[in-house]
Amino acid sequence: MDTIWNPWHGCVRYSPGCAHCYVYRRDEAVGRDPAVPAPTSTFDLPVRRDAAGRYVLPSGSVVYTCLTSDFFLDLADPWRPPAWEMIRQRDDLTFVIITKRVERAHACLPPDWESGWHNVRICATVECAEVAQARMRALLALPARHRSVICEPLLGRIDLSPYLGRQIESVTVGGESGPDARPCDYAWVLDLRRQCAEAGVAFRFKQTGARFVRDGRTYLVPRRLQLSQAAKAAIDLPSAHDPI
Ligand code: SF4
Repeated sequence: MDTIWNPWHGCVRYSPGCAHCYVYRRDEAVGRDPAVPAPTSTFDLPVRRDAAGRYVLPSGSVVYTCLTSDFFLDLADPWRPPAWEMIRQRDDLTFVIITKRVERAHACLPPDWESGWHNVRICATVECAEVAQARMRALLALPARHRSVICEPLLGRIDLSPYLGRQIESVTVGGESGPDARPCDYAWVLDLRRQCAEAGVAFRFKQTGARFVRDGRTYLVPRRLQLSQAAKAAIDLPSAHDPI
């Protein structure tokens, strides 16, 4: 089972990919300040139990963590240690942590992290060439059992080839959604796919985004079709490496 755990909500814009952040869009629509993060009512979800004493999240679940904030946000520093504690306790779950702040991650790891916990996947967002070098170097330097890259919203051509290899398990690519979405050019997607193929890294084209460009022509893709249109391209690649 896949589930979402948002231990805190709210974030501060950090890089080009944040310009049209959906957290900002949704919070501002209801008069809430998205730049003031706070713990949520589901802060303890991983260790929550039902009336029979069983964990609410079943063993084996994949838990997408902190999707309405950033797990390594500095304003969240006080809440992260208890969050790590719950992640440690639920070593039967897989926690997927997607971050634009991978450069901060090393300083935010728990004391007994060592070479990484088997139940945590760190995914660095790399949305454009300007951030690629610093984030990929930080991701590769980070002790972790599982490392992935998310190029979403893909904002331009990115050269990841110097960094791809066994240490990176997958690259996921997608366009931007929302009314002000910036274009995602299929040529950029295919270029990343080629880099992954050459390095033997798993590749996934997750969604087209709302403004998809192919052969110089722009297509406005409704939200409900963005995933299925990407799937129709059928360009995903498996990894050529054994899991680390
Ligand atoms: S890091 Fe993520 S959640 Fe935070 S502002 Fe940027 S896009 Fe939004």
